[in-house]
Amino acid sequence: MKYIEPHAHMVSRVTDDYERMALAGCVAVCEPAFWAGFDRSSPSGFYDYFSQLTEHEPKRAAKFGLKHFCWLGLNSKEAEDVQLAEEVLALIPEFLSRPNVLGVGEIGLNKNSRNELRVFEMQVDLAARHNQLILVHTPHLEDKWKGTRLILEALQNDRRIRPERVIIDHVEEHTVELVLAAGMWAGITLYPETKCTPARGIDLLENYGQERLWLNSACDWGVSDPLAVPKTAREMQRRGHAAAMIEKVVFQNPGKFLRQSPHFKL
Ligand SMILES: [Zn+2]
Repeated sequence: MKYIEPHAHMVSRVTDDYERMALAGCVAVCEPAFWAGFDRSSPSGFYDYFSQLTEHEPKRAAKFGLKHFCWLGLNSKEAEDVQLAEEVLALIPEFLSRPNVLGVGEIGLNKNSRNELRVFEMQVDLAARHNQLILVHTPHLEDKWKGTRLILEALQNDRRIRPERVIIDHVEEHTVELVLAAGMWAGITLYPETKCTPARGIDLLENYGQERLWLNSACDWGVSDPLAVPKTAREMQRRGHAAAMIEKVVFQNPGKFLRQSPHFKL
């Protein structure tokens, strides 16, 4: 079985993870820009990170036959300082033409604060001006429903944004319908405990169909599993899902969305 990992923070993972993913059938891994686990102290910290994502990480992945793509943006945990955000956003356009860049992400909300929302709208504007795909992070637990509503509203208020070019990630049972009804794509994040477990992820697919949905591990520096997607595929097989349906959600669907970027070539 081949699959695409559409959301993984590989800079936080060891090289052995690339090897294990390749052995499990992964052909491409996509890495949204994210929080480092601590706040970067200056725009140059982001410049170095964007360079790492566009120069170093594709080489590390290539050693295992994996294509590496990335998304660039300012994560919501560091979006409280609007002046810093403006300086970081000014760095992004020069990176957008690099061959592994798919769009602007992961952007979104964390605590649903006023400044986070302002910076989110600035990044949506950046994506619209540069005709980029958008990948959105939604808040955790009790903030998720409200945050998802605020995010959808901001995207729908910008008439330049085409919904089929936006993926809203980390959906759960109470937000997936909102996202699909808005015409956008929805990402199901498979986490060992929080977000969706593999069993819950498959329940979602069984309830909401297989259109405009994908699965990802969102593995990072915390408790997470870089093999969550192939493990879930195996669980789908055990539940009696057809091979074609499994391939659709782990390979065809992410490919269909990501090919909207001219940089996504396997
Ligand atoms: Zn992420």
